[in-house]
This record gives sequence, C-alpha cells and structure tokens, in this order.
Amino acid sequence: MLIAIDGPAASGKGTLARRLARHFGVPHLDTGLLYRATAAGLIDKGYRLDDVERAVGMARGLALVDFNEDHLRGREMGEAASVVAAIPEVREALIEAQRRFASRPEGAVLDGRDIGTVICPDAPVKIFVTASPETRAQRRALELAGRGEKVDYAAVLEDIRKRDARDSGRAAAPLKAADDAVMLDTTLLGIDEAFVAALRVVAAHIAQSK
Ligand code: C5P
Repeated sequence: MLIAIDGPAASGKGTLARRLARHFGVPHLDTGLLYRATAAGLIDKGYRLDDVERAVGMARGLALVDFNEDHLRGREMGEAASVVAAIPEVREALIEAQRRFASRPEGAVLDGRDIGTVICPDAPVKIFVTASPETRAQRRALELAGRGEKVDYAAVLEDIRKRDARDSGRAAAPLKAADDAVMLDTTLLGIDEAFVAALRVVAAHIAQSK
C-alpha cells in the first residue's frame, strides 16, 4: 500500500501520514525533513541558502534516517527549508532517495508537497490535505509553544502565508494537488476525524480495485 499525502504547512498531513503508516504497518517518510535537513546543513556551516552547489552536496549526502528532529522542526528551519526547496537542483538531488523509499515491497506513506505529482505520480492513494491559514497558524503556534519556542500568533500566520505563496508559486514542483488526489479539508476536523476520513479514502480505493 503506497499512500501519497500532500498539503501546505501545518495542514495536519504529517500527523495523518504517521497514523496511516502505523495503521497499515508500513514505513513513513516526512519529506519536509529532507529540505529542512538540507537547509540546516547549510546554516550550521555558515553557508548561504542560495549556494546551489553546496545545497546539492548537502541534499545528496543525507541519509533518510536519524534526523535530529528537534533541531529541524523549529520555525526558522521551516522558512529556510522552503528557500532551498525552490532550487530545482536540490529537488532533483532528492528524487531518487524518495522514490527508492516509496518502492519498498511492503508499501510506504510519504508526505510532502509534490509526492502525488512528481515523486510518486502512480501512487494508488493520494490525499491532498488542506485547512484554512488561520487554523493552520493556530496549530503551528500550539506546536511551537509545546516545543518551548516563544510564539506570536500573528507572526506564525504571516509565516504560513509567506510559505504558502513561495511553495505554490515556485517553478519547480510547486505545491498543488494531483488531478487524481482526494481533497481532505481538516479545518473543522480533529485528528481522529481526519484519520477516519483518510481511512475511508483508502477503503474506497481497495473496494474499487477488487
Ligand atoms: O512539510 P514541512 O513544513 O516540514 O516542509 C518544509 C518545507 O520544505 C516546505 O515549506 C516546502 O518548501 C519544502 N518541501 C517541499 N517538498 C516536499 C516537502 C517539503 O518543497 N515534498
């Protein structure tokens, strides 16, 4: 079972992807971490985010395990990740590892921005998760506060809008729903309700392919 989940920042796609992977007993790859780790590698070494050669080197050198998530999940890294993610050569450097992960015989769940459109266009199940910017900002502010970061809701909302515009407006693999993705708006849904809705999408696919 290969499941592709895409959506904007803080839409709930990561939580959903993790739960689906656990439910079906398959591995999960949060592809945002690849871009975050690439950005972190540059920042930690004092390199510029638009240093294409070094960014590609960082991206190529990533192992898909053992990410220091604490370091990567912060507000600054999300923003920096979306800058390096707009570099076509960086995206190119990360494609093969993602496709290899997706082709495991037992299946996998991948979440990101371009999984259903570029990385796994043949995934049998594609879900595009959305929520209003305000709801996403509330969720992100709560998450950041939970990590001990000082947060200001208005600043987080501003970040979300800026990141949406950059991720949707870039030329390379912009954030967009695949034509055959099922849209899941989680604005009014809790985590459990969103999970049940996603399970329904998978069940519909299984029933259809019998
Ligand atoms: O999902 P997350 O917020 O961790 O992703 C950080 C950034 O990485 C996104 O804003 C986006 O620019 C980039 N990204 C991407 N393609 C993916 C996953 C993430 O461009 N498949």
